[in-house]
Formats: sequence, structure tokens, C-alpha cells
Amino acid sequence: MGCLSEKVAIVTGSSRGLGRAIAWEFAEHGARVVVNYNQSKELAEALVKEIKDKGGEAIAVQASVASEDECGALIDAAIKEFGGLDILVNNAGINRDRTIRRMTGEEWREVIATDLNSVFYCTAAAVPHMIERGGGRIVNMASIIGQKGNVGQSNYAAAKAGIVGFSKSAAQELARFNITVNALCPGFIETEMVISLTDEVKEALLATVPLGRFGKPEEVAAITRFLVSEGDYVTGAQININGGMYMQ
Ligand code: NAP
Repeated sequence: MGCLSEKVAIVTGSSRGLGRAIAWEFAEHGARVVVNYNQSKELAEALVKEIKDKGGEAIAVQASVASEDECGALIDAAIKEFGGLDILVNNAGINRDRTIRRMTGEEWREVIATDLNSVFYCTAAAVPHMIERGGGRIVNMASIIGQKGNVGQSNYAAAKAGIVGFSKSAAQELARFNITVNALCPGFIETEMVISLTDEVKEALLATVPLGRFGKPEEVAAITRFLVSEGDYVTGAQININGGMYMQ
């Protein structure tokens, strides 16, 4: 029995990276977890197997969160399998980095659809089910890039800043239903997104981090778990997980 036992959680984009660590953390604390993926079927299924082998409950559901219909189907799958929904982590995200002078409309739209529209689609589909349960916890994965901007990431920064504004509005709208909504703003965390950078870029990034290292997915997962299990009086917050990088 853990602090999330009896809770049903969906983590979008949990086949890899931060989402995977969050899904694992939730399962370890007793939640029944929907592992959403878009392309990485094998990884998602391997995670589900690992959770089940440890005595937990999980299913893998393919859905592209860039599609409103597929987000609806993802929420429906959770309800069908587990009978309700308590926690939604809108984590899935991509980047298509290019300066504005070179960025195509398609690269702009792809990132906005996957990183921002998805947060509205999944939240809108999840909320009625959370109201039915008497409350819910929604955590949206923003980024330090949405707070400070970055060269070559205007699409990503716009999406992530949009997530913060969306989260604050949703927090105010949904408080009366005992649904909290918070945004996490990680700095640089050791996932594919960061590991794949060149050594030169990594070195330059590290120089900007007062703690002198990249964050670990488990560190983001622990804070996410704390928010959804202990953070009953925290809503509309943007929580920095960035090793002390200065933020206005
Ligand atoms: P990652 O390792 O690249 O993993 C991305 C995840 O998102 C994968 O599970 C991927 O699933 C999924 N995904 C991508 N497109 C999807 C779609 N259309 N529908 C459903 N799932 C989709 O990325 P990460 O570093 O873990 O990042 C996770 C989140 O944290 C993102 O929102 C990212 O912007 C944010 N973030 C990351 C960092 C960092 O330093 N790593 C910092 C700040 C914010 P498939 O493989 O199945 O496609």
C-alpha cells in the first residue's frame, strides 16, 4: 500500500525519459498507471511488464496527444480499464529546433500541437471524470525555456510558456471541483533530449547551472509524486526544477 494506492493516473509520453520515471514512481507508490506512448511501443510495453512484475497495475495505450480524438480515446481507455481517473500528467513533448528565419510552418505547428494543444485536449477530456471522483490532480510539463526563451526554440518556448498560462487559468477554474493544476519547469534533465546534445553544448549548458550538474529524471518524478499525493494546497504554481538557474 502506497500513498497513491487506489489512484488512477495517466502519464502522457511515458515510454521514455521523464514520463517513464514519473509512471514508475507513481506505480511504486501504488497507483494504477496508464503508460501512454506514440511510437515507442516496445519501450512502453516493457515498462508495463516491469510494473506488473513488481506487483503493480499498468496498461500501455498508444495515442498521439497532438490529436484531439486520440486524447479522448486515451482518457476513455483509462476509464474503461480502471473505472475512473484521479491524476493526469501532461508530459509528452517534442522539439523541432530552428531559428525563426529557417523554421517552417510545419515545424511550428508540430510543436504547438504536440506540446501545447495536447494539454488542453487531455485536460478537457479528463476533467469530467475527475469531477465525478470528487477531485483530481493535473501536472503539466512546461520548461525553463518557456520562462527564459532560447535561440532556435521559439516554437518550443511559446508552447511551454503557453502551458504555464493554461495551468494558472485551469487552476482558477477547477479549484471549486478540488482539482489542482500545476506546471513544472525543469531545467536540463538527463534524458534523450539532453543526452543527444554535443559535448560542447552540454558543457556550455552546465556552466549556467549553479548546482553544476544536470538533473535526473527521478528527481523530477519525486516532485511530481509529491505534488499529486501531498500537494493538496498547491495549485496554479510553476515549480522550478533547474539546479538553481536564475529565473525572474
Ligand atoms: P523524451 O525523452 O524525448 O521523451 C518524450 C516522450 O514523449 C516519449 O515518451 C514520446 O513517446 C512522447 N511523445 C512524443 N510525441 C508524442 C505524441 N505525439 N503523443 C504521445 N507521446 C508523445 O523527452 P523528455 O526529456 O523525457 O521530456 C518530457 C517532457 O519534459 C517534455 O514535455 C519536455 O518538453 C519536458 N522537458 C524536458 C526537459 C529535459 O531536460 N529533458 C527539460 C524541460 C522540459 P514515443 O517515443 O512513443 O513517441
